[in-house]
Amino acid sequence: MTQEETGLLFVISGPSGVGKGTVGAALRKKNKKVVYSVSATSRSPRPGEIDGETYFFKTKEEFEAMIEAGEFLEWAQYIHHYYGTPKKFVFEQLEMGNDVFLEIEVQGAMQVKKSYPHGIFIFLLPPDMEELRQRIKNRGTEDDEVIARRLSVAREEIEMMRNYDYVVVNDQVDLAVSRIEAIITAEHCRQERTYNRYIKWFKEE
Ligand code: 5GP
Repeated sequence: MTQEETGLLFVISGPSGVGKGTVGAALRKKNKKVVYSVSATSRSPRPGEIDGETYFFKTKEEFEAMIEAGEFLEWAQYIHHYYGTPKKFVFEQLEMGNDVFLEIEVQGAMQVKKSYPHGIFIFLLPPDMEELRQRIKNRGTEDDEVIARRLSVAREEIEMMRNYDYVVVNDQVDLAVSRIEAIITAEHCRQERTYNRYIKWFKEE
């Protein structure tokens, strides 16, 4: 399959609390063709999170065995836990022509950029830092030490946005979703992804 016939791989990163999950859920609801990859993690489930849907919840040992077996497209340690994208599902979906979304932190995104340079990298930003602090606090699932740690990582992550192709501000979920849909449409219209399809018209004459 050529690059033009496979689906596109989109990577979305952004600081903890920016609303990646909410935006992702709204995008999936609106656009049924979008496929999200389910990551594996060694962190414990938060209330309401479902194994196999939110994440594949693994022990540290199970996760390390998956690393050894080469099962990840990328993996990273974030705060005290492992997070990784299982490779098989992503490539199967791309081969089927589906667009795949990875919602991952910046170190993992940079690994994907190296191994899959055709990926499209989107950075989600909060409207301002105070809003981000409030969103992490309001979630109420993390203790003060983890909140402080997540905010300091957020500062470092925002520096990394220079390595991304697009920046989307999540001021309102529906607006952020429309911006991401515009990016999907634009990427499908890129000349280098469509040229061979059209030049075939003349080859077949
Ligand atoms: P949380 O613990 O809040 O669910 O996720 C913490 C961070 O890990 C978020 O920035 C999230 O996007 C990121 N993350 C989730 N899954 C993966 C993954 O498979 N790989 C990497 N590198 N980061 C991930």
